[in-house]
Amino acid sequence: MMLRGDDPSTLLRQTAKNALIRLDSVVPTPADGVVTLAYHRVGRHTSSAVDLPREVFARQMAHVATRTDLLTLDAAARLLTPPHDPRITPNRQVVLTFDDGTSDFIDEVLPVLVELQLPATLFVATSFIDNQRSFPENGTPLTWNALRECVATGLVDVGAHSHTHLLLDRADDMTIDLELDVCNARIEDELGVTPSHFAYPKAVHGSTYADLAVRERYRTASIAGTRPNVVGRTDLWRLHRSPIQATDGFDGFLLKVNGGMRLEDDLRRAANKIRYRGKRS
Ligand SMILES: [Zn+2]
Repeated sequence: MMLRGDDPSTLLRQTAKNALIRLDSVVPTPADGVVTLAYHRVGRHTSSAVDLPREVFARQMAHVATRTDLLTLDAAARLLTPPHDPRITPNRQVVLTFDDGTSDFIDEVLPVLVELQLPATLFVATSFIDNQRSFPENGTPLTWNALRECVATGLVDVGAHSHTHLLLDRADDMTIDLELDVCNARIEDELGVTPSHFAYPKAVHGSTYADLAVRERYRTASIAGTRPNVVGRTDLWRLHRSPIQATDGFDGFLLKVNGGMRLEDDLRRAANKIRYRGKRS
């Protein structure tokens, strides 16, 4: 698939993605388990690799709507929490999640979710909403009013994503507590709900202290991984998610929704170690 405004780096990314999609067909079939999809932006308002054209997103959601095994993150947490019900057969359950809290969520994503009646969790970094500060790559933040509208549909569960989108592997202990407590308090004050789920900013797992602080406050926490969360073998505070990208195409999306493309995550993690060096958020 060619993207609008293709430049050499986009073409390179697309070529690499096509190679990964072909490679995925020769790796062993992923285990059964809960596959959590991670979306960032929809509508191609930016050139970000995680900003999907609306029609591509709508086609993906139409596929998700045909599945009988779409779960809320709460339901997935119940399924993954021991003791496990032996009557439930392992399957490829799917969970929808969205990150950050940009305005395309209400403009582009919500109409599709409402039309198809699909539940999802939206992880928000609250300082961007409070201060109406742009997210990277010109991401316009949602407002608290817009978030109330999202919650009122009964389909959107708001989760925490720290207050300032801080990388929790390098922050000091006091800052970590503050980031989580302020984020929770702002969501509670504005939306009247206590967030049960957390997504680590940039999917980077935190320090030992951050890990404890997150376990104390939330029912689940998500990192990267691009693989299924297997019943009986999953740490609820290290849930794997599969990020959906514009270059995936429908083939790549189908592989991910069925738990594949793990190799892509292994490569990205190695690259991110260098990309995030010296960064704070
Ligand atoms: Zn984020």
